[in-house]
Amino acid sequence: MFDELHEECGVFAVYGHPEAANLAYLGLYALQHRGQESAGIASSDGRNTHLHRGMGHVADLFTPEVLGRLPGDHAIGHTRYSTAGDSGLLNAQPLSVTCNKGKIAVAHNGNITNAAELRRELEHDGSIFQTSSDTEVILHLVARSRERTLPGALREALLQLEGAFSLVFLAGDRILIARDPHGFRPLAFGQLEMSGGHVSSVFASETCAFDLIGAVYLGDVEPGEMVIVGPEGLTRERYAPKRDTAHCVFEHVYFARPDSIVFGRSVEESREIQGRKLARECPADADIVVPVPDSGVPAALGYSTESGIPYRNALIRNHYVGRTFIEPSQAIRDFGVKLKLNPVRHLLEGKRVILVDDSIVRGTTSRKLVRMVRSAGAREVHLRISCPPTISPCFYGVDTPSVGELIAANNSIEEIRRFVEADSLGYLSLPALRESVADHVEHKYCYACYTGNYPTELVNIDELMSSRERR
Ligand code: AMP
Repeated sequence: MFDELHEECGVFAVYGHPEAANLAYLGLYALQHRGQESAGIASSDGRNTHLHRGMGHVADLFTPEVLGRLPGDHAIGHTRYSTAGDSGLLNAQPLSVTCNKGKIAVAHNGNITNAAELRRELEHDGSIFQTSSDTEVILHLVARSRERTLPGALREALLQLEGAFSLVFLAGDRILIARDPHGFRPLAFGQLEMSGGHVSSVFASETCAFDLIGAVYLGDVEPGEMVIVGPEGLTRERYAPKRDTAHCVFEHVYFARPDSIVFGRSVEESREIQGRKLARECPADADIVVPVPDSGVPAALGYSTESGIPYRNALIRNHYVGRTFIEPSQAIRDFGVKLKLNPVRHLLEGKRVILVDDSIVRGTTSRKLVRMVRSAGAREVHLRISCPPTISPCFYGVDTPSVGELIAANNSIEEIRRFVEADSLGYLSLPALRESVADHVEHKYCYACYTGNYPTELVNIDELMSSRERR
């Protein structure tokens, strides 16, 4: 049984560049928003694998001295967030092993929904697990495969997995990249040109990582596709039959950076359209539109443009809030939101405010925000959310709490409005969200957190649900 669901991560891989580890460092730096708890890089010079992992932010973990100890032309990297108590170094990635298929390091974004069953079977047959991460299951399946080659063993292993996985592997003088058949989590590929016309291949969760290293975005690793880059060049193959595509819409709502192209679409564009549609569906008679930074900014801009109500940055974010903040005495504790955001009284005093945020999960943050805006002098606070009510937990790699804690799973919109103490509350409709990601014709996205309709069979749904309760 896993005491931890593996989620909210960023992955990166580069093949054939003399500064592979440095590029991985920069790639992870750009992907830091996808996970701030631990990070790691594995590099290879073709024969030896070098690994450094640690708890904390990429910029703090990878000093020039550490990067100097990661030689080789090939590298993979990972940045990770987890919520469970067991979030220690042991589960930090990349995971690295030596087995009968050679030296393999792996980094994973997503969540394997049948990992608990696979692990039970493997343990029953004698496997000894080192971590509580679902990713380790893949390595055991690869090691136990009777296929002789790593690609063959990996193919066999991947076909046994259910759920969400965007995976990067480093194995000697090869990197192997794979994405689950539904394409839940993003995985982009690109090229980096070096002097002399030599080109190296790069892969990342989001294209903002390519921008930083000067790589060109060429497209996405397809759902159900495996890409191998080695001395013989780059090969792409479909390892799994085609399944219904189910891209995570929450990447466009909240998770990804707005300067990224995710699932072939600009995140900024999706969020602005969400805001425009929100203004049409949930208008309010107000003086200013205020975003909850940073994720609410593009939607608030869209709302303002569509409604003609002026946009104001009336909540200022402190960008230096770190994990290491030491809470002072009990009396002045519970800073919560205050530590991160401060209202601009000058802009709010006497105003009727439309406050735009991307989601209400438990409702506690939203209530603090509404109170904060009101106590800074706002006359009215109209809360607008740029997606539908979050009613179901995600089992595909986004951190959502159990059904019991999801306010919209248990309360009407009017009850939520009262809880968050807003004068009015409006959510974007599901059809409008679909249109904002241009999915109203094709149906290629997963909306399970808003509908409860999970695109894969979850045979162990009770177990998955109860793993949320324990957190
Ligand atoms: P609350 O009102 O306590 O439910 O918190 C809502 C806030 O949490 C919003 O400002 C969101 O931007 C943020 N949020 C939503 N989903 C997530 C997530 N999966 N991880 C971290 N923050 C989130």
